[in-house]
Amino acid sequence: MTNESTASLPRTLFSQEHEQFRSVVRRFCEEVIAPDHDEWSDAQRVPREIWSMAGKLGMLCAWVPEAYGGLGTNILFDVVVSEELGRIGATGPSFPLHSLIVAPYIVDLSTDELKLRLLPGMVRGEKIGAIVMTEPGAGSDLASIKTSAVRDGNGWRINGQKTFITNGQNADVMVVACVTDPARRAKGISLFVVEAESDGFSRGRNLRKIGQHAQDTAELFFDDVHVPVDNLLGEVGMGFAYMMQRLVQERLLVSVQCQSRAEGAFQATLAYVTDRKAFGQRVLDFQNTRFKLADLKAQLMAGRAFCDRLIELQIEGQLDAVHAAAGKLWHSEMLGRVVDECLQLHGGYGYMAEYPIGRAFVDARIERIYGGTSEIMKEVVGRSLA
Ligand SMILES: Cc1cc2nc3c(=O)[nH]c(=O)nc-3n(C[C@H](O)[C@H](O)[C@H](O)COP(=O)(O)OP(=O)(O)OC[C@H]3O[C@@H](n4cnc5c(N)ncnc54)[C@H](O)[C@@H]3O)c2cc1C
Repeated sequence: MTNESTASLPRTLFSQEHEQFRSVVRRFCEEVIAPDHDEWSDAQRVPREIWSMAGKLGMLCAWVPEAYGGLGTNILFDVVVSEELGRIGATGPSFPLHSLIVAPYIVDLSTDELKLRLLPGMVRGEKIGAIVMTEPGAGSDLASIKTSAVRDGNGWRINGQKTFITNGQNADVMVVACVTDPARRAKGISLFVVEAESDGFSRGRNLRKIGQHAQDTAELFFDDVHVPVDNLLGEVGMGFAYMMQRLVQERLLVSVQCQSRAEGAFQATLAYVTDRKAFGQRVLDFQNTRFKLADLKAQLMAGRAFCDRLIELQIEGQLDAVHAAAGKLWHSEMLGRVVDECLQLHGGYGYMAEYPIGRAFVDARIERIYGGTSEIMKEVVGRSLA
């Protein structure tokens, strides 16, 4: 890695305490995650003990209130974790999804008893979270999901099938979107917590993907799974609204990941072209290379300023769906451009699987799809213009 100041403007978001924490996280990423990442990619999952190790360092759910085991801070410590994972191009473990996407549903919408039962374990990394919305027949069009929850005695009975679920093989705690009133479409969707030990719950295959191999991604099956009434999150029929509210943070997180992945790819490429020789000179010394890198650097600087402002707005409670969608759209598309140009500057070595840039190129592709596709992001932004 080379001088990091080449990648971004000075940042103002973080305190000294955050930067000290960043050093701890960076060491963990470099000493624990990076050396075994290839092995986890082959196995398509990260061993559970890595989660417990991260929990001990305070790397999980730091924002969660102290009463439930966290530090009760804003999201910045968890953002640091996401940035450091992105910087080394790690595709697993998906700590950010666990901390900043799944935990908010439980903190905001569950009973005190459920919070006390689930959150301390999530903070310690003993319980792994998953967000379970997508089905084989419904992704972008979430209002069309079919998994049902029907009142049954003192609880609810859930039946259905989900797919593409991140952490699907490892998950202990799942936030599951279900239809409770099919006639009301979006207004008939409710959210439930399902714990993996529930009777009738089972996992399908660990899905083989073209990238992000260290991430376990699974199909999940719910066959007459009974959950107690307290496992309903918030109110019946409000699930779609809850998801739309929390998709703002999910999309922000994609921006954070894309920005740090792009910065990592840029730094690795700068190091490569500084070292690599052709026609008796460094590849960096070709004007084309400098122009390409200058162009990428400008994009990274713009992206960093944009991303940090979005994070700030979210901390202030001011980030809305349109700005989050615009950010997700821009950062995911920017990452795609950056890894493509960076791969090109590596020549044939960029196409070799053992070079990080080749993996970064393939890993980046999903960022324009999950959390809402680029087309859906354009719909969200476009509708605001009418
Ligand atoms: C690796 C991975 C991890 C994932 N993790 C999770 C997870 O943890 N939890 C979870 O619930 N889901 C997860 N997903 C699912 C992901 O969010 C969906 O794949 C995504 O939202 C798109 O849905 P779809 O695949 O059904 O595509 P579709 O909705 O079928 O879209 C197909 C195409 O049609 C386009 N399209 C759809 N609607 C419109 C429209 N209105 N206007 C214009 N174009 C449109 C789309 O943009 C896309 O190009 C994951 C997916 C992957 C691949």
